[in-house]
Amino acid sequence: MASDHVDVLIVGAGLSGVGAAVHLQLQSPGKTYAVLEARGAVGGTWDLFRYPGIRSDSDMFTLGYSFKPWTNPKAIADGDAIRSYVRETAREYGVQEHIRFHHRVLRAEWDSATARWTVHAHRDDTGEEVVLTCGFLFTNSGYYRYDEGYTPEFPGIDRYAGRLVHPQHWPEDLDYAGKRVVVIGSGATAVTLVPAMAERAGHVTMLQRSPTYVIALPSRDPLADAARRWLPAKAAYAVTRWKNVALGVANFQLSRRAPGVVKKFLRRAAKGKLPVGYDLDRHFSPRYNPWDQRLCVVPDGDLFAALRAGTASVVTDTIDTFTERGIRLSSGEELPADVVVTATGLNLLALGGMTLTVDGAEVDLASTVAYKGMMLSGVPNFAMTIGYTNASWTLKADLVATYVCRLLRHLDDTGQQIVTPLAPDTTDLVPIIDLQSGYVLRAVDRLPKQGPEAPWRLHQNYPRDVLLMRHGRLTDSGVRFSRAGTPATVPDRPAPVA
Ligand SMILES: Cc1cc2nc3c(=O)[nH]c(=O)nc-3n(C[C@H](O)[C@H](O)[C@H](O)COP(=O)(O)OP(=O)(O)OC[C@H]3O[C@@H](n4cnc5c(N)ncnc54)[C@H](O)[C@@H]3O)c2cc1C
Repeated sequence: MASDHVDVLIVGAGLSGVGAAVHLQLQSPGKTYAVLEARGAVGGTWDLFRYPGIRSDSDMFTLGYSFKPWTNPKAIADGDAIRSYVRETAREYGVQEHIRFHHRVLRAEWDSATARWTVHAHRDDTGEEVVLTCGFLFTNSGYYRYDEGYTPEFPGIDRYAGRLVHPQHWPEDLDYAGKRVVVIGSGATAVTLVPAMAERAGHVTMLQRSPTYVIALPSRDPLADAARRWLPAKAAYAVTRWKNVALGVANFQLSRRAPGVVKKFLRRAAKGKLPVGYDLDRHFSPRYNPWDQRLCVVPDGDLFAALRAGTASVVTDTIDTFTERGIRLSSGEELPADVVVTATGLNLLALGGMTLTVDGAEVDLASTVAYKGMMLSGVPNFAMTIGYTNASWTLKADLVATYVCRLLRHLDDTGQQIVTPLAPDTTDLVPIIDLQSGYVLRAVDRLPKQGPEAPWRLHQNYPRDVLLMRHGRLTDSGVRFSRAGTPATVPDRPAPVA
């Protein structure tokens, strides 16, 4: 059993973990670090998902890192281009040498006396248990289970004789050319798969229980193309990034304040792309307000084009039962299918399934409150990356990594070793993720909470977070800095003054 020590231990070598390592190198150059990655490759999500058409649904000028311009002409990029970008970053900045592959972190134990975490990992390649210690634990383990996507219990599924596929585990040998395909789902994955599969399949039906907001956007950004011609790469990237941030914030704020206006706009935009007489109300008019769930982007309107061409269609109905040859719907209609793709979502998983103990006591995540959306009340020297739900993940990941580096510098500058968020004195707590999507609602009881105001509230607003996390004070009433030996347990707060 090997054991060694680093200043910072990063868990996960996906988009966030690689970015976190680069930020650490650039902003806290003296710190030692290692990255533990459960899989055998860099890239996380962008390496795991291999279904046809896999792509981003937010623009790469905001999904890319702040420190490395996205130079590919496509603003909405294919999965392999994103995977290459993350891998290139890991190589270019020398992060690659710090990654220990096949190390699945199982648990981490904090000890206040030594101000250290002891981290236990299982080596999936050799079966060994590996123990490391670190001063700061920084999890970048994404937000869902890698081993299993979510599939609801569909009646009769066992008797279906065709091919049943989950997008998270795409079989390399799947040949669907000329076949009848049904894609169950209406989220980002379904709207990506349907036009991509329609290029070769006999016909693709998107079977949805209820509609989602779908908007067509150009896959190339004319402003980015122009900026690249006239400005140096970094300046061109910054201009496009901030333009897209501003548009994203405006879109989200308008959706919150005037949902009716945004609904009308989305409806009109979809109508213009669909065949004349199409039943828009049934298939593209969701019951919820825009941004209660993530908006689905279709680059260059590819989904609408497949519907116009008749190579794909949408059915809005519920499943009565699977049959040997396909799916029978509640309306009585039968959908024959050679292949059924269950684009029914992810299983949310906090901290990559690892457990935490603080001075011997197990941390119950659901009882913690997230500080600035990145640390947990009562858990010392710990941060986690959770991206925005209404904007690109990396915008937040970059800020979290920057904040961690600021904290590390502050600890060094003040001769202290421990930083611990203290739970806010309120019962006014809500789930950390504010989406109404099924995959969120299924897991929300097991996740940390957020409070009613800063620093406990997630504003989901990048410009505001830039001020808070790049420039805001590190010391506030929500956090305690201390020396090794200070117990992590939070002293009783004084009773509020009447
Ligand atoms: C299909 C799909 C499309 C998406 N498209 C977008 C998009 O367009 N825009 C956007 O903003 N977001 C998108 N997202 C969200 C997406 O996950 C983030 O953009 C981003 O990839 C998250 O990066 P990450 O590194 O935080 O997590 P991940 O990509 O999930 O990487 C986490 C890494 O941590 C490792 N890990 C997990 N647990 C452990 C453990 N216990 N021990 C060791 N290693 C561990 C995993 O193996 C993995 O390599 C998408 C998600 C999916 C599933």
